[in-house]
Amino acid sequence: MTINTGSCLCKRVEFCLHGEFLYAGYCHCSMCRKSSGGAGTVVGGIQKEKMSITKGGEYIKRFYRSNETTSCFCSHCGSMLYGVKSSSGMVHIRYGALNKSPKLLPQAHMYVSSKPDWYKILDSLPQFAELPPQT
Ligand SMILES: [Zn+2]
Ligand SMILES: [Zn+2]
Repeated sequence: MTINTGSCLCKRVEFCLHGEFLYAGYCHCSMCRKSSGGAGTVVGGIQKEKMSITKGGEYIKRFYRSNETTSCFCSHCGSMLYGVKSSSGMVHIRYGALNKSPKLLPQAHMYVSSKPDWYKILDSLPQFAELPPQT
C-alpha cells in the first residue's frame, strides 16, 4: 500500500513509501545545510524496504557524504531526495521532497550546536546539541 509519494523538482525521479515514518526531525548539521542551501533539513526515517523508486532511477546520483550516509539526489535538477544509512538499514527521506504532508511531524531539533546564527528556532520542540541520546 502506498502511504505517500515524493519527487525531485523536475519530476524525473519519483518514489513511493509503503509505511509510516518511525522518527522525524530538523537537522541543523553543516552537511545538511550545505547540501540544501538552506537552514538545514527536515528528514524522516523509514526502513529501506518500505521505500521504492517508481520512476527515473537512472537519474539518481549518489554522494558518499560520510561513513554513515550516502546522499541521493537527482542528477538533472539537483534536488536532494534522501540519505541511505549504512549501519541502521534506514533511509532518511527529505520531507521537502514529499508530495503530501506525512502523519509524523518533526519531533526535535538535532545538531543545534552547528546551527547558524541567522536561523532562529521558534518552536518548543526538544533541542539536542547533536543526536538525541540513544535509549
Ligand atoms: Zn530532478
Ligand atoms: Zn544533518
